Amino acid sequence: MLDFAIIGGGPAGLTAGLYATRGGLKDVVMFEKGLPGGQITQSSEIENYPGQIEVVTGMELMEKWPEQCQRFGLQHSMNEVTKLTKEGDIFTLSLINGEKIEAKSVLIATGSVPKHANVKGEKEFFGRGVSTCATCDGFFYKGKNVAVIGGGDTAVEEAIFLSNICKTVYIVHRRDEFRASPHEVEKLNKVPNIIQILSHTTEEIIGDNSGVTGLIVKSKSTNEIKTLDVLGVFVFVGRDVLNQTLIQDDGSFLCDMNSSGEVIVDLNMKTSVSGLFAAGDIRINAPKQVICAAGDGATAGIGAIAYLQ
Ligand code: FAD
Ligand code: NAP
Repeated sequence: MLDFAIIGGGPAGLTAGLYATRGGLKDVVMFEKGLPGGQITQSSEIENYPGQIEVVTGMELMEKWPEQCQRFGLQHSMNEVTKLTKEGDIFTLSLINGEKIEAKSVLIATGSVPKHANVKGEKEFFGRGVSTCATCDGFFYKGKNVAVIGGGDTAVEEAIFLSNICKTVYIVHRRDEFRASPHEVEKLNKVPNIIQILSHTTEEIIGDNSGVTGLIVKSKSTNEIKTLDVLGVFVFVGRDVLNQTLIQDDGSFLCDMNSSGEVIVDLNMKTSVSGLFAAGDIRINAPKQVICAAGDGATAGIGAIAYLQ
């Protein structure tokens, strides 16, 4: 029987583990289906984490977090949690390996995953020219042309990252102004090998047996159609939370969520279910920042200690 089970090993889950163990909880396990660190490990540069003055990659930022948590006793189980239920005061976590684990309190910190642009060819060519991670796949397009779809901070930042590797980067956005912060847009405007294609929709990703060969775009003002000659298409159109199956049992959900599947919490990261917390990108109104996810995690860790007392 665990005191506290943490589902997800991103900034929120790791920080909750740090605070819970350092605050005296003994049996605390963080379940992470991949490597700890979370989605930020896919980012090419972080420059807004307080105290981190030099720009680092996401991988570099997260490198030491698991070690720091382990020092205070956080245990790590490399496992996906497929179902979370509660009976009486006890939660049961079903793991992908068939095991069932009981816990007195639980944190959901499963973060978010990339959204699809729902453009024709996106699914067909995923992994064969279509990607959602510039840090992982950018190097495959060294000296080649690529396109980025999206206009938020991720699209703009990753377009700049790709411009250091690729010959030309087209950034295709459906509106006439970027959603990204002015600071990022200012940087984007200074990069000579990034071509901004604003007010254009993406119509189709085309290719052949070897992978992607182009991206068809359409002007929203003139309806003119053109094909961008690219071998890679990077899709950065926002993030989704995917916890429906985790907390759904017999057609009903374990705790309250909004229509987007984000978990409703109070200022203490408590959900509608006693002993169940949610933190980071998964919770309502999340600012979707590493520092905020870590802050939520700390709040949830402290909350779990108070709940168990
Ligand atoms: P995540 O980091 O998403 O971690 C959730 C973890 O849970 C994942 O490791 C996942 O594998 C695991 N998981 C999910 N489901 C299960 C399950 N059922 N069982 C077990 N494990 C599970 N923020 C900034 O502050 N500054 C930036 O510059 C910045 N740049 C970014 C650039 C990119 C490319 C991206 C994608 C994001 C960026 N962000 C940035 C946002 C930031 O990464 C997130 O807000 C933050 O990582 C959220 O932390 P989290 O712990 O809530 O979730
Ligand atoms: P986002 O802010 O939600 O932006 C998504 C972008 O994709 C928007 O420009 C949107 O267009 C566009 N889009 C959405 N669906 C589309 C579709 N089907 N086809 C074409 N375009 C589509 O997502 P994000 O950039 O991934 O950022 C997510 C969060 O992480 C944000 O809160 C962001 O601030 C944060 N983040 C922060 C940093 C940083 O601090 N440096 C870096 C990365 C991410 P519209 O603009 O028209 O809606």
